Amino acid sequence: MKYSVVAGYFEKLEGTSGRLQMTEILATLLKETPKADLPTLAYLMQGKLRPDYEGVELGIAEKLALRALGTASGCGPEKVREAYIKAGDIGSAAQSLLASGRGQQEALFPEQLTLARVYGSLISIARTSGGGSVESKLKELVSLLNDATPLEAKYILRTSMGVLRLGVADYTILDAAAVALLGDKAHRKALERAYNVSSDLGFVVQVAAEEGLGGVERVHPQVGRPIRPMLAERLPSAQAILDQIGGEVAVEYKLDGERLQMHKDGEKVELFSRRLERITYNYPDVVGYVKAHVRSRRAILEGEVVAVNAETGEYLPFQELMHRRRKHGIEETMKRYPVAINFFDALFVDGKDATGKPYSRRRSELERVVEETEQTRVVTSKLVKTAGEMEEFMEVAISEGCEGIMAKNPGGAYQAGARGFLWIKLKREYSRELTDTIDLVIIGAFHGRGGRTGVYGSYLLAAYDAERKVYPSVTKVGTGFTDADLARFPKLLRRYESHVKPPDVESNLVPDIWYRPRVVIETIASEITLSPIHPAAMNAVREGSGLALRFPKFTGKVRDEKGPEDATTVKEIQEMYSMQKRVMSKAKGAGPP
Ligand code: AMP
Repeated sequence: MKYSVVAGYFEKLEGTSGRLQMTEILATLLKETPKADLPTLAYLMQGKLRPDYEGVELGIAEKLALRALGTASGCGPEKVREAYIKAGDIGSAAQSLLASGRGQQEALFPEQLTLARVYGSLISIARTSGGGSVESKLKELVSLLNDATPLEAKYILRTSMGVLRLGVADYTILDAAAVALLGDKAHRKALERAYNVSSDLGFVVQVAAEEGLGGVERVHPQVGRPIRPMLAERLPSAQAILDQIGGEVAVEYKLDGERLQMHKDGEKVELFSRRLERITYNYPDVVGYVKAHVRSRRAILEGEVVAVNAETGEYLPFQELMHRRRKHGIEETMKRYPVAINFFDALFVDGKDATGKPYSRRRSELERVVEETEQTRVVTSKLVKTAGEMEEFMEVAISEGCEGIMAKNPGGAYQAGARGFLWIKLKREYSRELTDTIDLVIIGAFHGRGGRTGVYGSYLLAAYDAERKVYPSVTKVGTGFTDADLARFPKLLRRYESHVKPPDVESNLVPDIWYRPRVVIETIASEITLSPIHPAAMNAVREGSGLALRFPKFTGKVRDEKGPEDATTVKEIQEMYSMQKRVMSKAKGAGPP
């Protein structure tokens, strides 16, 4: 398939905002795509190159993209930079520079780019690392740009910098695939399920194209391929949870560690993080525990790995786990910072899919297959019927070092990839003030006043608007950072620096430097307020106002197990806002007249 066709459709999508029209455009494109190119195209539409769990990360640095554009257009660095700042986007800058700059120089026999070639080059750019990698990435990119039309160059550069931003949500792609490949939009549900259990959109569209609906329905969890994690809603009180679930509720300790999805196939064990990255390497001890103490040959289990005190076995805070995030000397680190794994779900046992079974059945399977030891624990749980019982359980959980509790509907299936009320988290002080943590994406930084040079004093943070796939700002945070944090943050963020506002970011404030939304940090705030400045949930609660955090503070946690799309969503912030209003009006009602 010619890349020009793809670029043409991308351009059409860019000019469209309605979901229905987008679906139509995507469906036409999918119909026109040869089967062999479908997986590639599916990844590119998602702004990816491979499924997340393969860890092929897009996103060359701004500097490299500008150099490549300079070489390909024959323009000097000043001119390129000027065009970039003026256009506010690398793609549009490339399009205009190449259109005007090439003029007479245009190659007489430009080679027509195919989708396969563009994709191959992008993959090789993403996979190149180590010494000399910058030069080889540059060469590869320039060679693509030399054969590209201005329009193609626009999308090649955007894709390679990781700022493609077609604005299509995964479910829009699934809608389009249902129409184009299965002939009926109603089959989107089947596609979605297959996607949620395989985490691989390319694979799913390929199955749909080759085997039809039957094939899609036969997609089951597979050891070695991560399942998109089920997520929890939040409610303000034990009573609200009981009202929501009704009857009996299973409550579990909510531990403060890192979520692991453990895949076991005989002697082979793989570990995946919450964002589906393969992190087997960080936990060789957990690999050993799973091999030794999971009594099922082929299984997929979930649990929270928590740092523990070597002497007493007590739980330690999340930060202790960060020592594990390193490439070298893991054996030594492992001894110094021991962990315990706390299993909380069984998704696949003895070679069989368990995701469709109710929680209570999965829990008994879990208890059956996990041999409990100091390092392998099945998370503490209890069935409760009253708010009093639930609160009591919560007190005990907190006294043992937990963040709070997870309430689970005993009859609920494992809903891969969904956030719903089958799981509800409750942290201690919801009912008093806003104390749930909020995970936000860093999108910019401001120089501190009179502070050290080269160090930023505060950061601009955004939530994730999952519907529109954009990151609107919700707050500016300057408290909670230690000197060490302030020194390391610019280094951590350097590769995401942008001298123009990234296309998927929304903010009325202009920071001293922008960042492409990649790094997620945890914050707390005193409350959520209406704000005319921050665009998150603009007009949703009140005309002319968005929602913002009041008195935000960095908690010290960089959530590097979370990707930007795992940040707290605008919808969640809206829910927290209305929850807070309910609590406040109740408190007012309870007080003296
Ligand atoms: P949050 O990240 O605050 O939305 O909370 C959800 C996370 O809590 C999950 O992704 C798990 O990492 C963690 N967690 C801790 N204990 C449990 C549990 N018993 N059941 C489910 N998730 C748990």
